[in-house]
Amino acid sequence: MDPARPRAEAVALAGGRIVAVGTDAEVMALRGPASRVIDAGGRTLLPGFVESHMHLFGGVELQHLQLTGVHGMEALTKAFADFAARHPDAAVLMAEGVDYGILGHPVSRADLDRVMPHRPIALRAMDHHTVWANTLCLERAGLLHGAAMPAGHEVVMGAGGLATGELREFEAFDPILALAGVSRMYVGISRGAEPAGPVTAADRAVDKAHVERAMRHCAAHGFTTLVSMDGNRYTLDLLAEMEAEGRLLQRVKVPFHFKPEMDLCELDRASAMAADFRGDWVRSGTVKMFMDGVVDSRTALMTEDYPGVPGHRADPLFEPEWFRQVCTEIDRRGLQIAVHCVGDGAVRVTIDGIEAAGRANGFRDLRHRIEHIELITRADIPRLGALGITASVQPPHAPGAMDFPLEAMEKVIPRRRWKDAYLWRTLAEAGAPLAFASDWPITDVSALRGLKAALTRVPYDGAADERPGLMDCLHAYTAGGARAAHLESLTGRLVPGLAADLVLLGGDLESRDAQDFDRLGIALTIAGGRITHQAPGFA
Ligand SMILES: [Zn+2]
Repeated sequence: MDPARPRAEAVALAGGRIVAVGTDAEVMALRGPASRVIDAGGRTLLPGFVESHMHLFGGVELQHLQLTGVHGMEALTKAFADFAARHPDAAVLMAEGVDYGILGHPVSRADLDRVMPHRPIALRAMDHHTVWANTLCLERAGLLHGAAMPAGHEVVMGAGGLATGELREFEAFDPILALAGVSRMYVGISRGAEPAGPVTAADRAVDKAHVERAMRHCAAHGFTTLVSMDGNRYTLDLLAEMEAEGRLLQRVKVPFHFKPEMDLCELDRASAMAADFRGDWVRSGTVKMFMDGVVDSRTALMTEDYPGVPGHRADPLFEPEWFRQVCTEIDRRGLQIAVHCVGDGAVRVTIDGIEAAGRANGFRDLRHRIEHIELITRADIPRLGALGITASVQPPHAPGAMDFPLEAMEKVIPRRRWKDAYLWRTLAEAGAPLAFASDWPITDVSALRGLKAALTRVPYDGAADERPGLMDCLHAYTAGGARAAHLESLTGRLVPGLAADLVLLGGDLESRDAQDFDRLGIALTIAGGRITHQAPGFA
């Protein structure tokens, strides 16, 4: 990822930094008596992967029932019975990775009462924007008779004044997470708030264990930098404590989450976070917002009606004029804007807001970014590059490319618009800087699986080939991600002076077919000169 020296044979590391990159002879000449020499054996060595959009709360979910790939009442009931037996004391039995079509019809609490009536259970959709719960769980969480929610968040109500069991968006299912005892880890993404009430040392220890579990998982997949896109000061405090304890396995950037109902003065909290956390390992400086939801629950903001739902395009979570004011204030403070936009309507409103901020304050290199961009209109494509907006996109999210089924797309995106869906190469060619991510735990964090998805994806009906080249994909997982996070002078390339953040793949990437990338594995991950993951059997 160094244009001046795109290939080399050896790297020397000292004091947490890269000190030399060159031929074996050049680098071995620097060897001292205490040097440790690792023979990469012809495997590919890259800058450590940058996860540009993930969530540390994934560390909580590694402990839950995993339902990815599970379909049908019988399989679901068996999975829960086994999980319940192994967790006799859990206040809520939580499941992750659920397909919206898991039962072939919309999931209701009546379905889930048949799965398990006597213990509270909750199932979270793979995209994390919907949770379904059984009657007992709704009752204990105080949701069975409904609850007032801010716009966009909904306890779906059925006949008879009782909840159907479907909970849409983060605030609607926050009471379930509270019941499960894990809501502290989600309060950043659900409410942009700090944990309510006193947090004991024991609570902090539990939460740090969640963070550590997430980091170990990411280190095993070669990541040395993470952007955790939920976030609040509490998360940054935990990370700073872990840094002091020598427990960080990645550099982590955490934004402030600004909600539409907040006052502009709440941005003081974002500025304070940016000022207080500016180290090489723990950093802030970004404001995250949501402009819409997701296509599956038809909460993504579209420029035209959803198929089969005349008049429905979903609503923006920020009223556009208000959003322009918010962007202008964030930009004026010198902070980075990062906005979740799935639908093409959300992308447009967001570009408008970022453009308004630049016009008001002057265009500076703040590297505002849009997350996801699952659909975009042709007219908006060149605006990203022109405004220097990073396209922070997720190769695993494209239906059919990895774990998300293609069948679901038909119902939510008209087929004639598939040519505008999940564009990567087109956005890059139009000048938008690309950063790749998984949005873990929404999808598998594996960059090697993500690479495979990006390089083997079959074009949609009538769409262009959206596969970037191998080097462009690697760039989006390393230097591109570092740049998007304002960390390019620290990490993302193998250049003397930069941090010793590296990943050694399990083999020679370029001698393999992209179809096999997911089988390569990670031999070694090194962050700041320290080995954070070593494959069993790799010396
Ligand atoms: Zn996300």
